[in-house]
Amino acid sequence: MKKRLELQEYRSGILSGNRVILSQAITLVESSLETDQALASELIQSLMAATGKSIRVGITGVPGVGKSTFIQAFGRLLLDQGKKVAVLAVDPSSQLTKGSILGDKTRMENLASDKRAFIRPSPTGTILGGVSGHTREAMLLCEAAGFDLILVETVGVGQSETAVKNMVDFFLLLMLAGAGDELQGIKKGIMEMADGLVIHKADGDNLESAKKAKSAYQNALHLFPLSENSWSPPVILASSVAGTGLEEVWNMINEFESKMKASGFWENNRAKQRLDWLDDQVRVLLGLAFLGNPDVKNELTLQRPKVQSGELNPGTLAKRLIQLLFSKN
Ligand code: GDP
Repeated sequence: MKKRLELQEYRSGILSGNRVILSQAITLVESSLETDQALASELIQSLMAATGKSIRVGITGVPGVGKSTFIQAFGRLLLDQGKKVAVLAVDPSSQLTKGSILGDKTRMENLASDKRAFIRPSPTGTILGGVSGHTREAMLLCEAAGFDLILVETVGVGQSETAVKNMVDFFLLLMLAGAGDELQGIKKGIMEMADGLVIHKADGDNLESAKKAKSAYQNALHLFPLSENSWSPPVILASSVAGTGLEEVWNMINEFESKMKASGFWENNRAKQRLDWLDDQVRVLLGLAFLGNPDVKNELTLQRPKVQSGELNPGTLAKRLIQLLFSKN
């Protein structure tokens, strides 16, 4: 009975937009306790009808490109337009997380203090379901809590970009002028994923080189094959310090939304993302069940040296272990 009550408490708290309860619910989702996981699943399932109405925007770029500053300034602009904004971070290395760990709230203070904003650093440690799985669930909870925009921050250097691209409607890449692609650690693959590019810190002495970079990137983007949604990613100059270009970014996202909704791409993309998520979850949970199985663990520990020395074929052992997993259950 207690569980029911708890579920209802979470549910009504979230539906009424209570940020404290929302935060507690995300902690529940991130918990590795089996009972918490069960409750979290039940909670999300019970909120499904209230999700899906937000615009989901992924924001990426190498450390130092100004993501936190941009999110703060952009978030402010959206709040001023009457929107409710939630910010989620994916990488443990993100500034957002660093700030919260070190208790340095200055960066996002302005945004975090507003009741219509919600900021959540990324989870740390090894978590059941993987970080991106939890971010997706956190996103759904934020949507049920009535946030119009979900900004998902990720650092543009690792694999998390693909995960984030697969959970958002619009993927924004922040870049700097005057630094070569290699210098920025940006791979061509990440540029190909972007629905929009921002040349950030386009202010003061940087402005001229930012303009040059804009045409260089526009030319580079023209060489990419047209994406399946026929959208050509715009390149926008912006400065979060001067407050320029931010409105243009917002207009671009709005234009994307109306075009993609009209063409049906928006919903098709989300449907595809839901199936990707299912596949992801099956893979993750299978992996956990596999490694958590004592027979598998024993056999693996025993046989690993033989694989290492070349005596045993890895494929043979893998098949034997899989058989062990299923034969006992
Ligand atoms: P992150 O690592 O991508 O989150 O980057 P930060 O937001 O922490 O910003 C890195 C540095 O760039 C900080 O010193 C900021 O003050 C500076 N910065 C951020 N945005 C701008 C901008 O629009 N113009 C200029 N000139 N500097 C900026």
